[in-house]
Amino acid sequence: MLISAERLTELTEAIIRHGSDNQAASRQVAQLLVEANLTGHDSHGVGVLPAYMDSIWAGQLHPDAEAEIVSDKGPFLLVDGHRGFGQLVAKQAMELAIERAGRHHFAVLSLRNSFHIGRVGDWASMAAEAGFVSIHYVNVLSPNSLVAPHGGSDARFTTNPHCTAIPASKRHPMFLLDMATSTIAQGKARVAYMKGEAVPDGCLIDHQGRPTNDPTVMFEEPKGALTTMGLHKGFGMALICDILGGSFSGGGAYLPDRVISSRVINNMLAILIDPDVFGDAEAFYSDIDNYTDWIKASPPAPGTEGVLFPGDPERKVRAEREATGIPIDDATWAQLLVTAENVGIPQDEIARIVGTSPAQTD
Ligand code: NAD
Repeated sequence: MLISAERLTELTEAIIRHGSDNQAASRQVAQLLVEANLTGHDSHGVGVLPAYMDSIWAGQLHPDAEAEIVSDKGPFLLVDGHRGFGQLVAKQAMELAIERAGRHHFAVLSLRNSFHIGRVGDWASMAAEAGFVSIHYVNVLSPNSLVAPHGGSDARFTTNPHCTAIPASKRHPMFLLDMATSTIAQGKARVAYMKGEAVPDGCLIDHQGRPTNDPTVMFEEPKGALTTMGLHKGFGMALICDILGGSFSGGGAYLPDRVISSRVINNMLAILIDPDVFGDAEAFYSDIDNYTDWIKASPPAPGTEGVLFPGDPERKVRAEREATGIPIDDATWAQLLVTAENVGIPQDEIARIVGTSPAQTD
């Protein structure tokens, strides 16, 4: 089914408003979840809402929590998210970091104890839109470990994302590399599992550490694990995310005694740099423009659409989905409607938001 971003945002907002006491926050959280769907990252879109509501009811997600500065040393900020909505506390923390970067030409933000922050690209984009290069290392303390260390045979950490954003230049849009350090996201393994399809070579190992294409190993016992992207290189990046995102902030790297059911904590190191710090931002952007032209001029390889830059695929999907609507699979839609009922939204209100009947779409 397809639904417009506006209707999906309204439904999401209503669910959050009814399910939490934080009325003011609901629009902001809803907008960012729908933004993930708009950019094609459905694994971080409105499909997480039922789990968010469960986490509120389990007392693990604190909808009213605000970001608090724990240590303030000019350009260096340590901020605690107090397990608030990542969409709120990460925004508050990034606003602080952007203000400091404006004053000092750079800022180092260490954010700990935020509930799930969604797409890390949201936070890097926020800094890039304010004019800063923004580099992020994030770890994830979620109840189940998912990713095996390179050379190991069981899951010991999760999909630890890294992101770097560079502001748009005169001729090219923002560079936004925003990626999990696992070969594929857990959400992609889930889609393959639901469809009974195999995943590509190199993405999974079974419970004995042997390569497999069968996504069942992620959802049924005995459990296997996702692999790190790029073999040992992605493994190194994943470790950096746990160490710089987790250990450095005090939120902690992934250790089994730190993870709790219904709790998904992100810790994040963000480094913001003013491209004009040496007084020559113009040359920096001009070089990026020439470099991008050079790289993109590579003739398309057979069967491809040619060279894309990080951020291009998301812009393309956004343009398509803004025009045609956001596709939502049946299982996710059914879960959203059940969640809407569970938080007490009257049937006629659900029907008004989504159309004349909950099954109808734009
Ligand atoms: P992905 O593999 O779809 O894309 C990764 C990056 O590669 C993106 O920057 C994209 O623009 C770029 N890209 C994709 N195809 C390309 C191509 N053909 N040429 C050039 N560049 C290309 O993303 P992912 O690794 O599945 O991550 C998805 C999202 O999940 C991210 O937004 C990430 O922040 C988020 N995430 C969040 C958490 C969390 O705990 N909050 C954990 C893991 C991932």
